[in-house]
Amino acid sequence: AELADWPERVKTMQRNWIGRSEGAEVTFEVAETGQQVTVFTTRPDTLWGVTFFVFAVEHPLVEELARAGGTWEQVEPLRERVRGTPLTVREEADTKEGVPLGVHVVNPVNGERVPAYVAPYVLMEYGTGAVMAVPAHDQRDFEFARQHDLPVRVVVQAEEGVPVDPAELTEALPHDGVMVGSGPFDGEHSPASIAKVAAWLEEEGFGHPAVTYRLRDWLISRQRYWGAPIPIIHCAKDGLVPVPPDELPVVLPDDVDFRPGGESPLARHPGFLHAECPVCGGPATRDTDTMDTFVDSSWYYYRYCSPHEEERAFDPESVARWMPAGQYTGGVEHAILHLLYSRFFTKVLHDLGLVGFREPFPRLMNQGQVIYDGASMSKSKGNLVAPMPLVERWGADTVRLIILFAGPFEDDIDWKLIAGDPDRRPGVHAWMGRVFNAVDDATDSDADEPEGLRRATARAVKGVTEDLERFRFNTAISKLQVLTNEMRAALDAGGGAREAASALALLLTPFAPFAAEELWREVLGNAESVHLQDWPRFDPSLVVEDTVTLVIQVNGKVRDRVEVSADIDDATALELARASENARRAVGAGRVVKEIVRAPKLVNLVAQG
Ligand SMILES: [Zn+2]
Repeated sequence: AELADWPERVKTMQRNWIGRSEGAEVTFEVAETGQQVTVFTTRPDTLWGVTFFVFAVEHPLVEELARAGGTWEQVEPLRERVRGTPLTVREEADTKEGVPLGVHVVNPVNGERVPAYVAPYVLMEYGTGAVMAVPAHDQRDFEFARQHDLPVRVVVQAEEGVPVDPAELTEALPHDGVMVGSGPFDGEHSPASIAKVAAWLEEEGFGHPAVTYRLRDWLISRQRYWGAPIPIIHCAKDGLVPVPPDELPVVLPDDVDFRPGGESPLARHPGFLHAECPVCGGPATRDTDTMDTFVDSSWYYYRYCSPHEEERAFDPESVARWMPAGQYTGGVEHAILHLLYSRFFTKVLHDLGLVGFREPFPRLMNQGQVIYDGASMSKSKGNLVAPMPLVERWGADTVRLIILFAGPFEDDIDWKLIAGDPDRRPGVHAWMGRVFNAVDDATDSDADEPEGLRRATARAVKGVTEDLERFRFNTAISKLQVLTNEMRAALDAGGGAREAASALALLLTPFAPFAAEELWREVLGNAESVHLQDWPRFDPSLVVEDTVTLVIQVNGKVRDRVEVSADIDDATALELARASENARRAVGAGRVVKEIVRAPKLVNLVAQG
């Protein structure tokens, strides 16, 4: 699947940000004026529980309805106040506040007239800016109903137990259960009935199934200098005119007055501002806003593939060679902005035929954070830890090793736990001391390298190489510590360890570059830098894998045995079981209904028929 190598957490964040919801649009009619008002609901199965109706303050019908209902004097001040409130604040709006409009709407499913209100907790940005209120099954509607003495009607009851008395409710009920008081749908199971109700609404002409998204339009213009200019010319006669392609790109001037003035600095630069209209040739002005820098960060990496391309944004052949990115690493703070916009831009470029893939970053890793005493470090909390005293005391390589060894790449590490006392010698520093001793002793010995150490070296090269590919830096370092111990043991037993010493210095290079260089040149006596050497290789015959017997059962009876590598995964074990002739014969004409896999030792196929 696409994005198989993305953290589940990021995919969930993006899914929630996009906020796709399925449901239905339902049309209500204003009783007094006859106007139609459409609402979106994810729960059309609760339509029979509607006891009032709420408009957002910005809804285009609000003023007209309030005037018709004689309440404009109360509604207008509320609207003025709420309009000046930022959306993020309004999302937290008090659910008790609201004003009656003095008019009613007619519920199409049962013909009931319910009172209409205007209230800050309903937002124009979501759905249609008007909601049908079902206080028995929606907590915000419930709070509003209690405040304004509005009826609460239960239309979904629990499968078992006594019916709920709405008067006794202290909060909205969950709406899983059986529909009641719902006309033709009484006895239907909810929420399974949602699709059925939506289809019925369409048949009856009351509405239709619909999908909405939480994601809103993105206003990309900014009143800032830094950013890509918006390539539009404003002409009094021709309106908005795109800058002709042969005049692109519009380049920012580099002599701009940055003093604050409440508008883009570009608006005060006459040379930039004034332009000729591409249509009529008359005097016109350039758009002085620039684009949000997220516009650039959404696709800059394509430009990086061919930075010297003059004719186009990028050279498709270079992009085909370099992209999609083999590995993306970054903080999770980008999950719903940069990483979502980049995917969106790439899908558009793909649909335009400009790139041959739909995902720019098929592999994503989010690194953990360094925290302190359980909390994020921040100036305001006063829990910042400066790394330099530790670097001065124990060396940069030690600090690097502490961080890499502290835990998996994706996990946060708590600095208090791993290096809380700067005066205490870090464990990795003591280990580096043992590395220097062992490598030094290895250069003094001419003895043959024992077979066991040669195997240990090959295992370390293989293991560290694999760990690096998978960002398992902490386990790579523990493998280097194992190799150090093996070297020590071989040397103490009178054996040699030169090959192991060279491999250890090379393998240490990405983790402790200064120490590795010191070992390579000063201790091992090589002339050229360790950073110019090839990555070490190993003799595969020295890394013979342990094997175990995989038992293949059908319905609990042993049907086959296969020798397998001890580290095979469940998928491989299952594949071998399915391929086994003996197992196939045992299944015969039956059908495998269940597979129990315990790699590397057991696969049991459960067959029927
Ligand atoms: Zn013009």
